[in-house]
Amino acid sequence: MLYNTLGRSLMEFAPIKAGEVGFYGCGPTVYNYAHIGNLRAYVTHDILCKTLRRFGYKVTHVMNITDVGHLSGDNDEGDDKMVKTAEERGKSVLEIADFYTKAFFHDTERLNIARPNVVCKATEHIGDMIALIKRIEARGWTYQAGGNLYYDISKFPHYGELAGLRLDTLKTGARTEIDTNKRNGGDFVLWFTKSKFENQALVWDSPWGRGYPGWHIECSAMSMKYLGEQFDIHSGGIDHIQIHHTNEIAQSEAATGKHPWVKYWVHNEFLVLDKGKMSKSKGGFITLQTLVDAGYDPLDYRYFLLGGHYRNQVQFSYESMDGARNSRKSLIKELAALARKTRDSGQQLGDGARAYITQFDKALEDDLNTPKALAALRTIIKDAAVQPAEALAAAFDMDGVLGLGLREACEKALAAPEHAVPAAEIEALIAERAAAKKMRDFAKADAIRAGLKERGIMLEDTPTGTVWSLRGE
Ligand code: AMP
Ligand code: ZN
Repeated sequence: MLYNTLGRSLMEFAPIKAGEVGFYGCGPTVYNYAHIGNLRAYVTHDILCKTLRRFGYKVTHVMNITDVGHLSGDNDEGDDKMVKTAEERGKSVLEIADFYTKAFFHDTERLNIARPNVVCKATEHIGDMIALIKRIEARGWTYQAGGNLYYDISKFPHYGELAGLRLDTLKTGARTEIDTNKRNGGDFVLWFTKSKFENQALVWDSPWGRGYPGWHIECSAMSMKYLGEQFDIHSGGIDHIQIHHTNEIAQSEAATGKHPWVKYWVHNEFLVLDKGKMSKSKGGFITLQTLVDAGYDPLDYRYFLLGGHYRNQVQFSYESMDGARNSRKSLIKELAALARKTRDSGQQLGDGARAYITQFDKALEDDLNTPKALAALRTIIKDAAVQPAEALAAAFDMDGVLGLGLREACEKALAAPEHAVPAAEIEALIAERAAAKKMRDFAKADAIRAGLKERGIMLEDTPTGTVWSLRGE
């Protein structure tokens, strides 16, 4: 079952073509680093793709790179994001795009997010966009005004269906910047020429004059180029429902006359800070590197995200990150302990282990319930009734979707020198140190920590208790 924004309900998943899935996820606008909220969207795409592949579908995952046309307001308002950054930095738009595209993939790699099968840049598909706009124009659903070519939403009977919008509520006056060229408040630009940004760096010839495309058309043009005129799943954050995805549907169905353009719409909820929404354009945002600099493994962040369901809002805090780091650490420690008991992790699974795999698959099948899937992983490795080798094999199998880097981390833990101090003794010393601290005997507490350090055991105090690791782990 997958929750479909179109129809607002859980639906049985059945692709258009049996066994194959066409999936398009809106990609980044590369004028800045991705913030950790953006990365939640890409982790969601990744879990969705890996789940579908686990269930045997052949998935074609397409993602765009927006390097032109995205204004700070999604409804043709505000500055051009790319041009603004390029001017501020004294670089060309393409230099900025190239730099942040590389940074984006560096982040996604560190988060174990698989590369989409097709990554397509907007600036390399202007011809496809023009061809698509021509098809919309041929149907008579466009008009030119003030140097722009607009989409006339009043022509499209399904307009706003995805977001549950009513046409008569889309009044121009509700907006901060009024574009008097628009016939309806919700109309949007397909092609800009001279109406906005005389300083636009990248311009192309078109039947409507030399200019550049509006933001929404790129996703319609590129998704259909690689996935066909109708495809299975389209995804992005919930902020895209009202304008961007609504307009993508309007354009695509206008061009092809086929309805529905996309069968399932999957939207992830936001990651928020305690202070509110995280936003790239407002600055002061947290990147993956911010977390790495604060001492977290990127996969601690992935673990943190998987602890919440993608359709629930998640509040970010460093306390929760500490919790995620500790849980992932103890998971790896338990796996390493299992691995020490066996040299074999490739054996056939018995009924006990298979029951956990079923539980795991059911959780994913239930609208990608990663918290439940994680719970299956955590319980199997603690279940003494399951053979260590089977628990290990099952855990690595589950990690094929979860992507927590468990096999590598476990191998690393095994390769570390044997503990100079038995775990039970370390735990006893940690308890003794906690008791000393409680008695305000800080000299003793420090001596215990220093003694362990000398023997290669590092202690770290976290809000949820003291954790230990081998030096260099
Ligand atoms: P952008 O680069 O601004 O186009 O955004 C990239 C992706 O991140 C889109 O799918 C957005 O919907 C999504 N997104 C933006 N902010 C957040 C957030 N705070 N939490 C989760 N997803 C977000
Ligand atoms: Zn898009």
